[in-house]
Amino acid sequence: TPPLLQASNLRKTFPVKGGARGQVIHAVDGVSFDIAKGETFGVVGESGCGKSTTGRCILRLIEPTDGQVTFEGRDVIAMDKADLQAMRREMQIIFQDPFASLNPRMTVGAIIGEALQIHGLAGKAKQQRERVAHLLDVVGLNGDHMQRFPHEFSGGQRQRIGIARALAVEPKLVICDEPVSALDVSIQAQVVNLLEDLQEEFGLTYMFIAHDLSVVQHISTRVAVMYLGRVVEIASTDQLYSDPRHPYTETLLEAIPRPDPRRRRKRVQVAGDLPNPIDPPTGCHFHTRCPIRKLPLCATSRPELKTGPDGRAVACHLRG
Ligand code: SF4
Ligand code: MG
Repeated sequence: TPPLLQASNLRKTFPVKGGARGQVIHAVDGVSFDIAKGETFGVVGESGCGKSTTGRCILRLIEPTDGQVTFEGRDVIAMDKADLQAMRREMQIIFQDPFASLNPRMTVGAIIGEALQIHGLAGKAKQQRERVAHLLDVVGLNGDHMQRFPHEFSGGQRQRIGIARALAVEPKLVICDEPVSALDVSIQAQVVNLLEDLQEEFGLTYMFIAHDLSVVQHISTRVAVMYLGRVVEIASTDQLYSDPRHPYTETLLEAIPRPDPRRRRKRVQVAGDLPNPIDPPTGCHFHTRCPIRKLPLCATSRPELKTGPDGRAVACHLRG
């Protein structure tokens, strides 16, 4: 079966604020991946690596500069406004900051009701109320919460409201953009568990964006690692965590605290900070920090993401 979603050679450039005329930042620099129906595809990288922009380009909340997106074989980039509106019922997004994404002047009932109305799913007032109450129940809140405003809820509850709003239109794919990053650690697992339960109950497919590997390990089927606008590695979760291939993936894994010191990985030396994305290193973007780089090759030639015979996809001149 063809993948649910395919992104090919996706690019997004932004003009640099206050920069020279024509100066652009390559926020997404040729990104390709597939997401299969029913899986959770993790996308991981430091802030500014282009993961959120990639998610928004897929939904066309931001227009990509170049590249292809197909959803169930349909060309998303070619869609006109009406088609796009209809498609957005099938592809929803959950944002990192649930508070910023919920209108503070609307009750929870009105917020979720609005999502239903946009897609013509609201029905009569009574049906809408019942539907909203059911959705609140599904995400672990209750119908009484309908009359309340977002500020009356905790961060975790607000994220549940955001999830209910996304699920209101019965999407197939949900892009979860760091849905737990802003929450207390104690609440994070609850929300991740809820997302997993909902996936099973409603047959959802997730693209799950996070800035560190520990969050996606539990929930993802496969993981893509991004660095400065590019995908450097894609692997099944088991493969990625037990046998990382790209040197950057190794450094990210090293950053995960391990309870058992005997199981600590050999420390990988990462020189320097994340380079300025406005002026990224030439060749392999990671060459300024890579412990195994080979010069001049790594500084002059861009390593393409290649899938090897074992199915592992790695963008590195020295590792396959
Ligand atoms: Fe390191 Fe070169 Fe591989 Fe880049 S291409 S990760 S610099 S070895
Ligand atoms: Mg982000």
